[in-house]
Amino acid sequence: MQLQKAKIPEAKILVGGAWREGRSQEPLELVYPATGETFLRYAGASAEDVDEAVRAAEAALRGPWSTKIRPADRSRILWKLAELMFAHADELAELETICTGKPIRETRGVEVPLAAEIFQYFAGWATKIHGETVPTHPGLLTFTLREPMGVVGIITPWNFPLLMSAWKIAAALACGNVVVHKPSELTPLSALRLAELALEAGLPEGVYQVLPGRGPEAGEALVRHPGVAKISFTGSTAVGRRIMELGAGSLKRLTLELGGKNPNVVFADADLEAAVKGALNAAFYNKGEVCAAGSRLLVERSVHEEVVARLAERAAKFAAGQGDPLSPDTRLGPQISRAHMEKVLGYIEKGKAEGARLVTGGGRNEAAGPGFFLQPTVFDRVTPSMTIAREEIFGPVVAVIPFDSVEEAAALANGTDYGLAAGVWTRDVSKAMSAAKALRAGTVWVNCYNIYDAALPFGGFGASGFGRELGAAAIESYTETKTVMVSLG
Ligand code: NAP
Repeated sequence: MQLQKAKIPEAKILVGGAWREGRSQEPLELVYPATGETFLRYAGASAEDVDEAVRAAEAALRGPWSTKIRPADRSRILWKLAELMFAHADELAELETICTGKPIRETRGVEVPLAAEIFQYFAGWATKIHGETVPTHPGLLTFTLREPMGVVGIITPWNFPLLMSAWKIAAALACGNVVVHKPSELTPLSALRLAELALEAGLPEGVYQVLPGRGPEAGEALVRHPGVAKISFTGSTAVGRRIMELGAGSLKRLTLELGGKNPNVVFADADLEAAVKGALNAAFYNKGEVCAAGSRLLVERSVHEEVVARLAERAAKFAAGQGDPLSPDTRLGPQISRAHMEKVLGYIEKGKAEGARLVTGGGRNEAAGPGFFLQPTVFDRVTPSMTIAREEIFGPVVAVIPFDSVEEAAALANGTDYGLAAGVWTRDVSKAMSAAKALRAGTVWVNCYNIYDAALPFGGFGASGFGRELGAAAIESYTETKTVMVSLG
């Protein structure tokens, strides 16, 4: 499970088209989660670096990208970037895997191609962003314009580093904005390579700048900066709240994609084989480090025992597929860091202490490797008041909660402050439709889970945040609308 260090690039910051060292005083480290070894030390961005990047972005805003380029040319550059991402997919996937511990079959097979497709999707939008004429008064010609917001600050988490970057950067750039991006300090490498490819694709200097660094240092400097018009943030609800407070002074536009404690509801009439497979994917994809993870599995009582037995059997198979993330056979990787692994273990201990029944898993998986591997864990007889039913664990832990009626399922499902995603498994169309309407969640999957598409808006209700990424909704969220009234008289 040794890393080939020769392949590891430097981690610098990109400001105004030039690569250089960050000026943060305290160095940062990148650790391979499968072994715990430090493979890179780097200097992150300081507040001063962020200020320089915002100034360079403001200069770029006056350049060709925002208003002086034909939308067709903007589209061509974004499409070219997508092609380069496909051409360098192996390399991007490896960078993503060594920072996050995600299995290469997920990064190479799913996430890098999806990220490239998102650039293609928004390349298509670049030529279709327009206002409308609105008839109002015979003496007036009235219409709206959709204009770029200006400098967009983008802050991304460590769980889907490249994909979350693509969601935000592709849409922001398609709308003619310029971007200053702060990726997570733990996972900057794919964003840095993306920026290199963007320059190669012809993106003008200063239009996309990347500054890896610490949240409280570089992240806060970006949110506070008066030159930044909008912050698009994906991360925890606690940091989302902090960003709202910091952004209030300059009335920043905000998109906040935050945490979740998502219900996955299995009715007795469901195809149970499909539901169990779906429940495992919902709970354990990306080792449970997924905002939309189906971490609460609500099961109708008449099939509850059967579902739990099948889950336990399959979860053990998942554990057998845990190992070196760079191997194409690995299905489940290690947690991102030692600190995060300890946090998840703390939740497992709370589950036991509060009286949930541990069905399988419940500890580290040392057989998988020396890194931060946790066994896929299933708890049964969980009650809604238990900590593991209320708080986002962000690890491979699923809490099974039985229910007796459709009404009870809806009440349990909606019984947290979050509202990011939900799943429903049933063969009854009207039950599925009623549940889809009743669930307070930004996305509802019926007889499937964890499917994403560039064309479909994604975002949360309640404590899961606000604003939508992807789809046409993203175009609205990265533009300002201007009304123009022309007197004809
Ligand atoms: P996090 O701790 O909130 O960090 C997210 C980003 O914010 C990182 O780049 C982090 O920087 C930065 N940050 C931290 N403190 C900051 C501050 N005071 N000011 C500005 N930026 C700051 O979240 P995470 O642990 O990386 O990611 C996991 C969370 O993301 C989970 O709660 C998950 O549900 C959520 N998530 C939501 C979605 C969605 O679409 N709703 C998608 C994916 C993940 P550093 O890490 O570099 O310090």
